[in-house]
Amino acid sequence: MDEYWRKRNFQKTTEPQGEITLGGNKIYVIQKHAATHLHFDLRLEMDGVLKSWAVPKEPPTEVGLKRLAVQVEDHPIDYANFEGTIPEGEYGAGTVEIWDKGTYRLIERTENKLIVDIEGNRLRGTYVLIRLKDRKNWLFFKKK
Ligand code: MN
Repeated sequence: MDEYWRKRNFQKTTEPQGEITLGGNKIYVIQKHAATHLHFDLRLEMDGVLKSWAVPKEPPTEVGLKRLAVQVEDHPIDYANFEGTIPEGEYGAGTVEIWDKGTYRLIERTENKLIVDIEGNRLRGTYVLIRLKDRKNWLFFKKK
């Protein structure tokens, strides 16, 4: 879809935008996951799933803080409401609690960059995810 979006200006053409629905609010959630290593799972509803990143440190609430965000497997949409304990011996064993939840609006999406307006309780504002060279790792930070 990247090439399709790159070639078109949806302010000018009436062609369908696909995923880019300006003004469309989608699910945003961060789950605090006390697994072997405490981390924060950032999830954004996209393409019918929750795109997911594990953030090893507390997500940035202020401009100027950059966090590593490791992309992990897509999760189903209803995972956004999950809180509980994953039993010992199971994948991701430990407790999961919702750390922040709300909606987001997609501002820009290319293969290596996402810009989103997040409206949560802890995180509010424009956030950027930039994919690093090794593909799996992204930088996550607040833009304004
Ligand atoms: Mn996790």
